[in-house]
Amino acid sequence: MSLISELQTILGTSHVLMKGDLSAFELDWRKRSKGRALCVASPANTQEVAQVVKACVAHKTSIVPQGGNTGLVAGSIPDESGQQVLLSLKRMRAIQAIDTANLSITVQAGCVLQEIQEAASHAGLLFPLSLGSEGSCTIGGNLSTNAGGTQVLRYGNTRELCLGLEVVSASGEIYSGLSGLRKDNTGYDLKNLFIGAEGTLGIITAATLKLYPKPLSTLTAWVAVDDLERCVSLLTQSHQALGAQLTGYEVMNQFSLSLVGKHIPQLACPFPNSPWCVLLELSDSESQAHASQQLENLLSQAMESGLASNAILADSLQKAKHLWHIRESITMAQAMEGLNIKNDISLPVSSITEFVRTTDHALGQLVPGVQLVNFGHLGDGNLHYNVQSPAHMPASVFLETFEDPVNTLVYQQVKHFGGSISAEHGIGSLKVLTLPHYKDPIALKMMRQIKVCLDPLNTFNPNRVVMID
Ligand SMILES: Cc1cc2nc3c(=O)[nH]c(=O)nc-3n(C[C@H](O)[C@H](O)[C@H](O)COP(=O)(O)OP(=O)(O)OC[C@H]3O[C@@H](n4cnc5c(N)ncnc54)[C@H](O)[C@@H]3O)c2cc1C
Repeated sequence: MSLISELQTILGTSHVLMKGDLSAFELDWRKRSKGRALCVASPANTQEVAQVVKACVAHKTSIVPQGGNTGLVAGSIPDESGQQVLLSLKRMRAIQAIDTANLSITVQAGCVLQEIQEAASHAGLLFPLSLGSEGSCTIGGNLSTNAGGTQVLRYGNTRELCLGLEVVSASGEIYSGLSGLRKDNTGYDLKNLFIGAEGTLGIITAATLKLYPKPLSTLTAWVAVDDLERCVSLLTQSHQALGAQLTGYEVMNQFSLSLVGKHIPQLACPFPNSPWCVLLELSDSESQAHASQQLENLLSQAMESGLASNAILADSLQKAKHLWHIRESITMAQAMEGLNIKNDISLPVSSITEFVRTTDHALGQLVPGVQLVNFGHLGDGNLHYNVQSPAHMPASVFLETFEDPVNTLVYQQVKHFGGSISAEHGIGSLKVLTLPHYKDPIALKMMRQIKVCLDPLNTFNPNRVVMID
């Protein structure tokens, strides 16, 4: 029997797509990479995933897992061979259980992040993971990329939010690790191998995640700041004043906000002429009045000491959402502006100002007039240091001529300052050839050994994260 016939028998003909417009599956979110799949297989449950894996292994066919396809490193689309099975987890979107005493939720991997947030909220609890793509990304994708987002400062990356996983292995066996335990020292922590593996080691089919009590009040402020150095100093001051109540600290340069103003004009931005703006969030478990007082004190101190040149405090939930919406629209506004060079980097917070100063300068010498879309989760040392063509140079010419030299310059600088070339988006196929230049060779060797051990036939997402000879 052919592989397609076997998959049709396992899943039903309507869940094995071969014809029609497959571009939603084959084209990446940034529209920079396009592949071609043998078919798109959409299982409804874990047993079906296991059967699909066994059939693919028997036919020596590789599998590319896909959730919401919002990844930014082209890890979830097939290569151009037309020989890979694209495994879409989107039908597997059940909330399986909420345990309010254990503060945990168990969900299938295709659950959309926003649906998990809403389910937690209906139970009076909080699932804190929050990304600009939360309306379409899935928890399987979030776990596989170890997504970060805007709440890492207080709650950690997706890895820190996961208690247990269910995974289909490369032999088609089901590893049932949905224990929900907070303590379990019975050997290697297997779940952490699959988190951040970008679908190269196994297919995540379900997860048990941590929930938290909802804060009594959450307040948001938007602060105008004259330079990045002051943004870093204000972060230090915010840590000192607010401690664990500081739940978000985002920075945005003027150019990145001007793109939001240009492409999404209904999102009016406060202080549009300020060189930098900070979005600061405080979550408090005492009272609204207590939270307001604390934030107002911090902002007046910042103004008095010259760290902030202006500031507003959102006085309603709607206004707070508006401010977050501006921040989260930068990625979309940048995509609307056209192609650009994306760098998702992390650095010790103490080195960020010097990194940006020297890298901006060096890029200006390499490409006179280059424009920098610079924003990110400064509280986590994570910058989206994106490079846009000079005003009068077509983006296609810019990319063709400068993509490699710009990336090399930025990555060398990242290395020099002790940072990472991928803070939260992962490696995918975009950076798989770059990684060996910047990763510790012993670490890379161990990563290859783990890949070969868990997936000896290289069935899962080949040529992503690590290359196997
Ligand atoms: C507007 C916008 C804002 C964003 N903001 C952030 C942000 O703040 N922080 C951040 O970290 N990222 C951000 N991203 C990137 C992206 O949303 C995340 O990487 C997200 O976690 C991907 O989820 P997904 O379901 O779309 O995964 P996909 O894009 O479908 O897949 C991502 C990777 O995971 C693998 N995969 C997917 N599902 C599974 C599974 N069940 N089992 C095994 N492997 C699987 C894929 O093969 C691929 O390698 C943003 C993207 C956009 C478009």
